[in-house]
Amino acid sequence: MLAAGGCSDKPAMENEVPVVVVTTTHLSDLVHSLAGKQVKVISLMGPGVDPHLYKPTSRDLSSLAKADLIVFHGLLLEGRMAQALEQADRRGISSVAATSEIPKTLLLHDGEESEDGHTDPHVWFSPEIWSICVHTVMKKLIELDPESEAEIRKNARELLEEIEEIKIWSLEQVTGIPQGSRKLVTSHDAFRYFGKDLGLEVIGLQGMSTSVEAGLADRANLVDFIKQQNIPAIFVESSVNPAAMNEIAKESGVFIGGELFSDALGPPGESAIGPAGKSFQLNSWGGMMVHNVSTIAEALGSRNLP
Ligand SMILES: [Zn+2]
Repeated sequence: MLAAGGCSDKPAMENEVPVVVVTTTHLSDLVHSLAGKQVKVISLMGPGVDPHLYKPTSRDLSSLAKADLIVFHGLLLEGRMAQALEQADRRGISSVAATSEIPKTLLLHDGEESEDGHTDPHVWFSPEIWSICVHTVMKKLIELDPESEAEIRKNARELLEEIEEIKIWSLEQVTGIPQGSRKLVTSHDAFRYFGKDLGLEVIGLQGMSTSVEAGLADRANLVDFIKQQNIPAIFVESSVNPAAMNEIAKESGVFIGGELFSDALGPPGESAIGPAGKSFQLNSWGGMMVHNVSTIAEALGSRNLP
């Protein structure tokens, strides 16, 4: 650790701690979990912020300029940050896309089997894929602070165990939902990895990015679909305006099953109960998954509730 005080010849100063600038709340949690004591984390986006639409502020640009490492998501999630990230790259600032080592075969695209279709960036919803991102970011943090390698690896092992534990628990909750009700209707197409891993059919009002708004035809189709399929509840997302989903719920005669965390984690200081009755902070990956899975399982009538 660069800023360890005590045995160093010169006094430890704050600016000796490596500064890691992250874009999304998921990455803020990941870097905090792996190296929260070794680095200073600056997170550009907060809870409830939509990364598809996020434009960097002048304060963000100066944070990026003084970063020792930038951790961004990639797969075009931060669509409006490309220029700022390129600029930092030209200045020689080290950076890593957390998603850069995911094998192509695990990624989903918007066009069936289409190689050139847009890649779905919402990979944090797959425990298997998020574990790959943990490894990618872990290696980069060790490169940044080699003296803390043992600590960072230990934190990574604990995090990977937690991800596995939550995956198993989530499957249990979802298998308690009656087969015909395993349908997840949300504001935008963020839950395809989640659905694939947990066995839920997913339908989003908007596409994979929130940058294109849903038209009236999309809304009418979704109302028809909900009625035909006898779907008991639909869901709003914390980073997307809920107005359209509220109207659709009213028109289809179903209730809003709750608010899910899709493209941003929850607020600090709140928690949800997950595996073995443990409490998980909503501003962590585990808290996000546990909250989402319990909210969905409860609204869709799971018999295996925690
Ligand atoms: Zn999204």
